[in-house]
Amino acid sequence: MTPDPHRYDLDALRIRLIDEREGEVDDSIPQLADADPELFAIALVTPDGTVRSSADADVEISIQSAVKPFLFALALLDTEGEALDRVGIEPTGESFDAVKLESGTGRPPNPMVNAGALLTASLVRGADPAARDARIAAGLAAFAGRDLAVDEGVAHDEHLLGDRNHALAHLMRAEGTMRVSADDAVAVYARACATVVDAETLAVMGATLACGGVNPRTGERVVPAQVARDVVSVMATCGVYDGSGRWMRAVGVPAKSSVSGAIVLAAPGRLGAAVVSPPLDAQGTSVRGRLASEALSDDLHLHSFAAR
Ligand code: GLN
Repeated sequence: MTPDPHRYDLDALRIRLIDEREGEVDDSIPQLADADPELFAIALVTPDGTVRSSADADVEISIQSAVKPFLFALALLDTEGEALDRVGIEPTGESFDAVKLESGTGRPPNPMVNAGALLTASLVRGADPAARDARIAAGLAAFAGRDLAVDEGVAHDEHLLGDRNHALAHLMRAEGTMRVSADDAVAVYARACATVVDAETLAVMGATLACGGVNPRTGERVVPAQVARDVVSVMATCGVYDGSGRWMRAVGVPAKSSVSGAIVLAAPGRLGAAVVSPPLDAQGTSVRGRLASEALSDDLHLHSFAAR
């Protein structure tokens, strides 16, 4: 019998893994370096809209790269699919901020690495950066089922200190694949990464993808089913950067990792989930987040490729 996520004890899982001490907190900007390494939250949301969460699931962090699936979704929606011609969908086997584009095309390799997310953030509807910021905020709010704040300090510092992101944006300008100014591209992307969520909210966002684009809490159709399917497919192949293969083997659930230690998971038709814990492994994946995801996958039979 398939285990019931409504009965799963998330606090017991949290306590089982909380003594794990591996990993380092990201130090790319002061706000991330100040993250509490003890923070550890797990949440899941089922298609009937039930939200289940552990302790800490209301602690706020910046969404960072866990925003990338949603930027891809909004770009697909707003360009009526043209985004699929503008960004590749192949895994890179390289780190999230590698200064490298797809050979031959000058496109970003996929929407889950920084190059790709800089591009997808530039493709959402809006004639100028402020309009694109507003479009992204409205889109993320629909995925989350509520308005989300932006941490202005994080947005400012990431814009200022994101030298590799500026390099990537300039490289795409040089290749003709980025059509807005490099500085505008980095500003909009940095602001999206600075969106504030907690584990519970991020789990609702993942559940909206897992439910074919319909938010299970509000009932709103946020994106068409085809867009949700495309996004989840690319999460499966590219969502954990150069750890994507290892993740798929061990967890088997499409997911997106981030430097704040947030991971969003989407198990289509089953549930959305989020795990937050700042210490990261060498691929920039939350260590406790990966362990908790493996346990959830095993205990709730979520692995995409396990025959049952
Ligand atoms: N804002 C971060 C950056 O662009 C996001 C990276 C991440 O979470 N992996 O460097």
